[in-house]
Amino acid sequence: MPLPHTGSYYAATVNEATDYAPLRGDRQADVCVIGAGFTGIATALTLAERGYNVHVVEANKVGWGASGRNGGQLIGGIAGEKHLRKMCDEKLLWQMRWRGHEIIAERVAKYGIACDLKYGYLDVAIKPRHLREFQDDFDRLARHGFDHEYRMLDREETCETIGTDVYLGSLLNMGNGHLHPLNLCIGEARAAVELGATIYEDSEVLRIERGSKPKVVTAAGSVTADSVVIAGNAYHLVEPQLRGIMFPVNSFIIATEPLDEQQVASVNPRDLAICDPNFVLQYYRLSADKRFLFGARINYFGDDPSYIAGHHLPLLLRLYPQLQGIKVDFAWGGTIGVPLHRVPRLGRIAPDILYAQGYSGHGVNVTHLAGELMADAVAGTLERLDIFAGIKSTRFPGSHTFRKPLVALGVLYHQVRDKL
Ligand SMILES: Cc1cc2nc3c(=O)[nH]c(=O)nc-3n(C[C@H](O)[C@H](O)[C@H](O)COP(=O)(O)OP(=O)(O)OC[C@H]3O[C@@H](n4cnc5c(N)ncnc54)[C@H](O)[C@@H]3O)c2cc1C
Repeated sequence: MPLPHTGSYYAATVNEATDYAPLRGDRQADVCVIGAGFTGIATALTLAERGYNVHVVEANKVGWGASGRNGGQLIGGIAGEKHLRKMCDEKLLWQMRWRGHEIIAERVAKYGIACDLKYGYLDVAIKPRHLREFQDDFDRLARHGFDHEYRMLDREETCETIGTDVYLGSLLNMGNGHLHPLNLCIGEARAAVELGATIYEDSEVLRIERGSKPKVVTAAGSVTADSVVIAGNAYHLVEPQLRGIMFPVNSFIIATEPLDEQQVASVNPRDLAICDPNFVLQYYRLSADKRFLFGARINYFGDDPSYIAGHHLPLLLRLYPQLQGIKVDFAWGGTIGVPLHRVPRLGRIAPDILYAQGYSGHGVNVTHLAGELMADAVAGTLERLDIFAGIKSTRFPGSHTFRKPLVALGVLYHQVRDKL
């Protein structure tokens, strides 16, 4: 059964609701993409810009998965970079870690996508080791001549900047930012369609048949294509070869009622996105209409807004007691695909079947890089894809059957590590 969007702030504030017809009958395409999140839509848009006939088959709605319900934080870098560093030179890695930002900025401008894109980001330190890590990041930005403002802030300046004294210090980076992810995804989908791509919603892919060309099959139709790109991320359960290479982590977000001017001035006058470096992390920012969007991971498998609000609001008030009495208007969750070594999983399960998934919570930027890598690979250019494909996946045996206990164990493991 196709599912509607989750009850998020984003779904309640879309510029346009999508209504693409389901796949019916047998179709032909140059490329068939499975999944209409950022990975699938970025791939389709890049291919459409390059003149390919692309069909995107989505089980639910455009942006229904993590892409339409995330924190909206535009974060530079790729999860698990220390592994990637062994596979390619620093210059290419540096170029890749910011490539998604460039693609997003270009598309927002070129296609006039209204998605509240704003720049300004603060990594906040809970422990002394976080400050040392930020100093390393700072030094790397300096070595590469990063051309946006970036600065280490001490405890006092951090408190002045974001109105809470719980952090030891922070790294300000005006090259990162935040946006309305569902409006970005829907806007990019519209751009792809205007360039000739076809999108099917409410069309779950049941299998991929292998023949002289791969055939993507739903209950009511099929698309036969020269190449298939699997972009179903943590929600994709079709291809056995991809099972167990990511562990799913659930993260939840609340959106409060809009803050008044005084409250905004007291919690986030510079309108920054803020994130701590823990694995079981907290991330927050203001929406365009000044709601406090606060996200954190919970070992919880439901979607009851009152449970989520009951868990998150006390965490938010611990940081910002001055918001005591604030109401929560929206609460929702989603699943993040996390490979054990955290490096995004990009590669091929057959010469004509590619996949991209598992961004470990750094997906807004990296999905757009992945879309470009998928489009390059379709055209036979594999240089950047092979850097990712060269890193072997670690599998979780039985992850399909024991999904919930494994997630609980994984989160517990990381909670303990965060405390060290
Ligand atoms: C709560 C939350 C907060 C996050 N916050 C941030 C953040 O602030 N910054 C950041 O960079 N990243 C964040 N992330 C991670 C980021 O959202 C993801 O990495 C990214 O959106 C993944 O995009 P995707 O297109 O690969 O997958 P998804 O967006 O999950 O899309 C997959 C799509 O495939 C479809 N699909 C699956 N199986 C099938 C099938 N069989 N047939 C057809 N369609 C199928 C699904 O319906 C879905 O629409 C967050 C994630 C979550 C859940």
